Amino acid sequence: MARHVAGRGWYGKLVGAALGVTVLATGASVWAAQAGAAGTPKASASAAPQKVEAVDKSIAHASDAGPRGVNITIDDGPDPVYTPQVLALLKEHGVKATFCMVGTQAEAHPDLVKKVVADGHRLCDHSVSHDTTMDRQSKAYQKQQILDAERMITEASGGVRPMYYRAPGGAFTPYSRGVAASRGMRPLGWNVDTKDFEQPGADAIVATVKEQVSNGPTILFHDAGGDRAQTVEALRQCLPWLKEQGYVFGFPER
Ligand SMILES: [Zn+2]
Repeated sequence: MARHVAGRGWYGKLVGAALGVTVLATGASVWAAQAGAAGTPKASASAAPQKVEAVDKSIAHASDAGPRGVNITIDDGPDPVYTPQVLALLKEHGVKATFCMVGTQAEAHPDLVKKVVADGHRLCDHSVSHDTTMDRQSKAYQKQQILDAERMITEASGGVRPMYYRAPGGAFTPYSRGVAASRGMRPLGWNVDTKDFEQPGADAIVATVKEQVSNGPTILFHDAGGDRAQTVEALRQCLPWLKEQGYVFGFPER
């Protein structure tokens, strides 16, 4: 495969090193929680805890949708303004995505977390407070950020657990990857950074997707953390374009 990540400094090297890694079989109980989630409200958080099976701790990029698969990943929400707009667009185009949620956001907007799950999307732990210096913090801090967010997201969803962990800013450590993987959350990287958080204009975001989608399947967008009108507009253009190019939408491998 010609897929690679170039020009991303230290993180690019990390991502590059992690490409093509082996993916372990998925724990069936964790998988089923979201694979069959569409239209099936989950039991309350007080229900019996789901069995948690460890997953591979290497950083995933590949798509479960095969060689033309792309994974739409939406970070930093949920957000009461933009997440509903993103969900409407995904529904309009029949696309399932992965939402990397910040614990405090999930706790503040449980209705949106439940809506994401009900629409058939998957959840990803994006830490409690989005500290992009995570990789320089103590192990105790890293563990607390990951496991508290896991709990906050799971409670907000009504019992559906996050299936991935994406470090804020990509600040993974071997330790944090192990913590997440032991809880059934596959470390999740990206191949295409749309830089939508810099608000470069919808056209620039779309152009980045078109230019870089050959890098690999996992595309990074944001639905929170600022004005995301450009992201919404870019998705409106990108989703049909990707379909026209023969891409199929999937989830990151676990
Ligand atoms: Zn983020």
